[in-house]
Amino acid sequence: MLTDVATNSAFYTARRWLQECQDDHAKCPGKKAPTLPSRVIDVGSETKRGSVKLLVNSTPCKAHYTALSYCWGGSQQVTTTKSTLDDHVTSIPYDQLPKTIQDAVMATRNLGISYLWADALCIVQDCAVDKAQEINKMGQIYKNATLTIAAASAKTAHEGFLQPRPRIPSCEIPIYYDHQYDYDFATVQSSDADEPLYSRGWTLQERLLSPRMLLYGQKELTWQCQQNSSESLGTTFYQRSTGCKRLPVGIFVNKKLSRKERPSNTQTKQIWQSIIEDRLPALAGIAEQLHGIWGDYVAGFWKNCMLAHLA
Ligand SMILES: [Zn+2]
Repeated sequence: MLTDVATNSAFYTARRWLQECQDDHAKCPGKKAPTLPSRVIDVGSETKRGSVKLLVNSTPCKAHYTALSYCWGGSQQVTTTKSTLDDHVTSIPYDQLPKTIQDAVMATRNLGISYLWADALCIVQDCAVDKAQEINKMGQIYKNATLTIAAASAKTAHEGFLQPRPRIPSCEIPIYYDHQYDYDFATVQSSDADEPLYSRGWTLQERLLSPRMLLYGQKELTWQCQQNSSESLGTTFYQRSTGCKRLPVGIFVNKKLSRKERPSNTQTKQIWQSIIEDRLPALAGIAEQLHGIWGDYVAGFWKNCMLAHLA
C-alpha cells in the first residue's frame, strides 16, 4: 500500500492546514501578504501549466509565496545566471528543471499560491555580488514566506518529493473512555532528524526561521508551525513532539518583547547553547532575527550571558 502525497485530497489537506494556521493560530502570522523577495518564480496557475517565469521586483510588492528548502546534491542544469536572467523573465524551461523544483512548482500551484522562491533560480548563480546580497537576505526570505516547502526526503534536486510513499505500518488500538471502548490508530513514526535534508547545515536557518513548514518526509507529509509541532497526513490526526527547536514566537508576529517577557538569563543560555550545539554555518541570520526582538547581541554573544558562553 502506498500513500500518495500528490493527490487532490493531500493538497486539500495541506490547504486546510494553512488556512487553519492563518485564521486560528495566535502564535503564527496571519493572512496578510508578505513582501516578496527581489526575485520569485511565477508558477502560473493550475489551468496554465507549463507557464513558469521569473518575476523581478524592482520595487517592494506584497503577495503570498512559498520558499523551497531542499538539497542540491550536485549541479543543476537550469539555474539563473547572468546569461539566462533575461530569458527566465520571459520563460523558464519547466521540462528541464530538476524534479524537486518541478514538484515545488506543482505543490505551490495546488496550494493556491502564485509565487515560489528557490535559490537556484532566484539568485544569479555566477554573480558574486548578487549571491552575497541574496544570501544575506535568506533569513528574511524564509521568515516572510507564507509557507516553506521542505523536500526533506530528497537527497538531490533530481529526486523530487511528490512520489508515493510506502504506507506507514499502523494498528488499531482500543481505548476505554467514558465507560465505552473507542478505537484509534497507532503508527510507527519516523524522526525528522533521519531525513536527508537535515544533514545539511543551511537548513537549520531555513527550518528555524520558517513560520510554517509543509514537510515531505520519507514516510509522511507533515505540517509544522509555531502553534502545532506537527500534524500528519496519516491514518488519523495526531500530534507529536518532534524535539524540533523553535524560536520565540515574537519573531513571527513581529512583536518586540518587553523586559518582563524576555527570557531569563538561564533560558537565554539554554536556548542559544542548544542552537549552537546543532550547526554553526547558519547562525548569522538567526542571530539577526533574535537581536531584532531581544536586542543585546554583541559579536556572537548575548550581553547578559557573555561570561558563561566565553567560559
Ligand atoms: Zn500555525
